[in-house]
Amino acid sequence: MKRTGAGLIAAAVAVTVGCSIQSQGSPESESSSSPSATTATSSAVKARAIRNGPRNVNAVAITLDADYSPSAQAHVAAGTYPKQVNQDAIDVLTETKTPATVFATGMWATTYQKELAKLAANPNFELANHTWNHDAWTKTCYGLPYIGSDQAKHESLQQTNRAITQATGKAVAYVRMPGLCQNHSDVKLMASEGLQLVNTDVPTTDAFATSPSAVAKSMLKQVKPGSILLMHLNGAPNAPVTAAILKVLIPGLKAKGLTPVTLSTLLKK
Ligand SMILES: [Zn+2]
Repeated sequence: MKRTGAGLIAAAVAVTVGCSIQSQGSPESESSSSPSATTATSSAVKARAIRNGPRNVNAVAITLDADYSPSAQAHVAAGTYPKQVNQDAIDVLTETKTPATVFATGMWATTYQKELAKLAANPNFELANHTWNHDAWTKTCYGLPYIGSDQAKHESLQQTNRAITQATGKAVAYVRMPGLCQNHSDVKLMASEGLQLVNTDVPTTDAFATSPSAVAKSMLKQVKPGSILLMHLNGAPNAPVTAAILKVLIPGLKAKGLTPVTLSTLLKK
């Protein structure tokens, strides 16, 4: 399969060039308010990507994308990928009681229902939407398959929302695009569904990382008050060292006086 890991590669490449793929005509600005997970309404949602929370707080949001696609599913079925759940990373977050927000694809949420239910039952985890099957929303997005019509986009969001809400009992407030690829009309479409688009302001991620300490160090160098950090929860082969990165990152954030909180907590501040 030529597209092995394309989703994660897309994310990794995209965040590296994050500034250039923000929604058009929307200069980055700092978010001072945003809907909570339970009270999202289309009127409260900004029709632009949020990359960070307010800068006047000593808090940051660790976010992890749970990628899963038909391509990855085929690999898992063939035994060439392990189960796409990074249990070690979940354990590190759980044991250190570190709040985090998981952007789950609908395919991940429905394939790994037991894991999803555990995350949903832990108040330190917040769940958000990473589309149904990790298709790209723009025609050119690092080789990801293109989703096609607006109707397909709506369905991808709705189906994923349903899968998450079934586990949490709460409305989904946030969405992140595969590869961080979206047009301005897409951002409006997401906002019309009550979903706030969330990117990152810390371009270093765990994708294809081999040196956990180097990645953690780089993230700690870039992180600021209010930052939104992007990592992955699907594990090997695309994000194999996320747990080890978290083990360095979490105390490193604390040493800088930055407390990890969920996205809705950060954006409400
Ligand atoms: Zn992704």
